[in-house]
Amino acid sequence: MELPFAESYKIKMVEPIRKSTREERERWIKKANYNLFNLRSNQVFIDLLTDSGTGAMSDRQWASMMLGDESYAGASSYYNLKQAIKNITGFDYFLPTHQGRAAENVLFSALVSEGNVVPGNTHFDTTKGHIEFRKASAIDCTIEEAFDTTVDHPFKGNIDLNKLESVYLKYTNEQIPMVIVTVTCNSSGGQPVSMENLKDVYDLSKKYGIRVIFDSARFAENAYFIKTREQGYAHHTIKDIVAEMFSYADGMTMSSKKDAIVNMGGFIALKEEEVFKQAAQYNIIYEGFITYGGMSGRDMNALAQGLDEGTEFDYLESRIKQVAYLGQKLKEYGVPVQEPFGGHAIFVDAKRFLPHIPVEQYVAQTLAIELYKEAGVRGVEIGTLLADRDPATRENRYPKLELLRLAIPRRTYTNNHMDVVAAALKNVYDRRNDIKTGYKIINEAPILRHFTVELEPYVKESMGV
Ligand SMILES: *Cc1c(COP(=O)(O)O)cnc(C)c1O
Repeated sequence: MELPFAESYKIKMVEPIRKSTREERERWIKKANYNLFNLRSNQVFIDLLTDSGTGAMSDRQWASMMLGDESYAGASSYYNLKQAIKNITGFDYFLPTHQGRAAENVLFSALVSEGNVVPGNTHFDTTKGHIEFRKASAIDCTIEEAFDTTVDHPFKGNIDLNKLESVYLKYTNEQIPMVIVTVTCNSSGGQPVSMENLKDVYDLSKKYGIRVIFDSARFAENAYFIKTREQGYAHHTIKDIVAEMFSYADGMTMSSKKDAIVNMGGFIALKEEEVFKQAAQYNIIYEGFITYGGMSGRDMNALAQGLDEGTEFDYLESRIKQVAYLGQKLKEYGVPVQEPFGGHAIFVDAKRFLPHIPVEQYVAQTLAIELYKEAGVRGVEIGTLLADRDPATRENRYPKLELLRLAIPRRTYTNNHMDVVAAALKNVYDRRNDIKTGYKIINEAPILRHFTVELEPYVKESMGV
């Protein structure tokens, strides 16, 4: 008999979690103004809000923390991390930051100014926020297949080269400080970018003299998909694939809370010394001296170890198979999910799940609230709330997709937890026609509103008539 798949690690420490009653959850979510970010973690049974900083560190990572060097300047932990980044990415220059958006803030302070355009495959929300905050604009050049959840395409994160070239032709080089390739593409569903596309984007950009920066939070998961889906890579190690990927970039920003499996941290790594020097100034102002930049020595050590573990095939296989396990269960139950399954999360297609709820009533958020009430499972809306208002017109932007993202923390939950999530969504699906209306906004911030937005149930004007 063929042996079934099992994780490449065992559990050494546990953290108790608590179930709640539906009555409790209804009270809590109302008090949270129907924003799942406002819930306390002990009001959540299975937390799939994000896979960012929520993973379980290994015994080796914890051990490396004890060797952390907390010297203000020139700490051994800094050199340890510098070497790990060089080994994995090939980049000579690096700046530590406290997380990924801090890396964006520092790098964009050096490179992006008013009136600039930054093309890319669907930019991550903080990336877009940092671009728009500087009165520049992000231009989405993702392939069209990415916007249809029913189309099967192995690399839905790919950039459409025609769209990209039209940006290069329309604007001057001075207006385009860089193209940002997000690997894997978070906002379009954790979808990977093929090696071929990375190379083509690089070649095209070099032809036009444009800098290529990778938003690299999930670069290792991207490498796993190249290995398992792209011809010619089946026998390459993840580390070799990663090295080739980064050979098609001039630099990167990193949220280490993702594929480097630490709870906090980020960095910038660069090929060009000149950009490094400019960014270093901002690093000192915003983050800290260049040899710690918002991170303690122990955290830099855990990150160096995490970069090594996160680029091992066995670990990646355990992770990505767990995500696919949940996706497969949901598919069997008839729940509309995005395919192929992404690396870090399953995305439920809320427009197909609740077709009778108008997008103006925040359909993906409505589904997220229903799932929480059903079983204390916390997902997150990737839809109109996240898409925010157009900075010029202040009108709501309605994205093509309304998704409920179920992000799986690394090495944290078992497949029994995945079974609960799938059953809960099935129950909501079975009673979907009883969900008659969505929500409306009663309060929102001018930028990145989804974190703090306050909602109340939408009530039809004609109700009670
Ligand atoms: C998480 C993430 C960021 C931002 O990183 P933080 O560590 O949350 O600040 C940027 N880009 C992508 C693709 C991400 O997934």
